[in-house]
Amino acid sequence: MTEPSIFTRILDGEIPAEILGETERVFALRDIAPQAPVHLLVVPKSAEYRNVAELAAGDPSLLAEMVAFAKELAAEYTEDGDYRLVFNSGENAGQTIFHVHAHVLGGGLTEKSVGA
Ligand code: AMP
Repeated sequence: MTEPSIFTRILDGEIPAEILGETERVFALRDIAPQAPVHLLVVPKSAEYRNVAELAAGDPSLLAEMVAFAKELAAEYTEDGDYRLVFNSGENAGQTIFHVHAHVLGGGLTEKSVGA
């Protein structure tokens, strides 16, 4: 059996995190290493899907729920409601946690967040 992901361990209360909200199927937390003034993560509670392509193929309504939740969070946590939604997919694209999650980046992007 594979190890539970960091996000599953956060959800189970094994690792502390700043959880900002949840629905039945999705939760949101603040990224521990922010790359923008506002850097949040939207994560399905289920670790079934490793990346956004698998999620889109397997459960498009869950992907739509993540996108809708990201918009709500951006409206609440950024100054202007504008944001970037990023799904790193694959190790070479910077993915480190293979439990699908969306990065919600906003509030004025730092140089680092745009890869400068
Ligand atoms: P990725 O590199 O796309 O897989 O994204 C994983 C993200 O999770 C990174 O931006 C990390 O900073 C973030 N992260 C890792 N551990 C934690 C944690 N314990 N609490 C909050 N965010 C975390």
